[in-house]
Amino acid sequence: MMDLRLRRGVGMTSPRVRERMVERLRAAGIRAPAVLAAMREVPRHLFVDEALASRAYEDTALPIGFGQTISQPWVVARLAEAVLEVVARPQRVLEIGTGSGYQAAVLAAVAGQVFSVERIGALAARARQRLREAGVGNVVVRHGDGAHGWPDRAPFDAIVLTAAPEEIPPALPGQLAAAGCIVGPVGPPGGGQVLVRLRREGGGWVREALAEVSFVPFQAGRG
Ligand code: SAH
Repeated sequence: MMDLRLRRGVGMTSPRVRERMVERLRAAGIRAPAVLAAMREVPRHLFVDEALASRAYEDTALPIGFGQTISQPWVVARLAEAVLEVVARPQRVLEIGTGSGYQAAVLAAVAGQVFSVERIGALAARARQRLREAGVGNVVVRHGDGAHGWPDRAPFDAIVLTAAPEEIPPALPGQLAAAGCIVGPVGPPGGGQVLVRLRREGGGWVREALAEVSFVPFQAGRG
């Protein structure tokens, strides 16, 4: 049997390779020290198939099955940073679109507790297992439709979407804590999506456009 380290593509997944990824993120404008530390800590290669482990630290999205992708490192880092710019120490974070579990693991490194909803049951199960393997204990994954949020666990200091709806699902703003924010891509599938941040201010809502992005589409219902 092949040595586990060989199967994981040792060298391509070492802390040194992760450090180079962090340097690239810094060069690409990611500043928050807690986010850079999280990207350095979380072993991204554990969240992709072994056949793709050697590519885990490239700045690219990778397939995770069921037509879905693990987001590219810059996007993962920017989502986390966009939260911390508004909520310095988030206690409770809701993620919609668990996918591989990687973004949840990165959020878990900068937040108290992460609640993550995934509509595809097999992905939810695999993400739970990978989070366990990676030693991440403060993420709860639920199989369900994220359009409803997670009312039983609300309010959240932040809600992060990792799939793009045409518009922020109307159930979500009501599940946000007073000083919280929603960060996620909005727009049509395949192009013209914008990463937006929504937060309360003076009794109303402030909506900021942070970047042009490309995410898999948000889909209705449980898969
Ligand atoms: N955060 C993930 C990104 C996965 S891609 C990661 O780090 O790997 C986005 C995920 O959102 C997909 O797994 C997709 O199945 C899921 N998704 C799409 N629409 C959804 C919905 N309505 N509710 C919950 N999950 C959804």
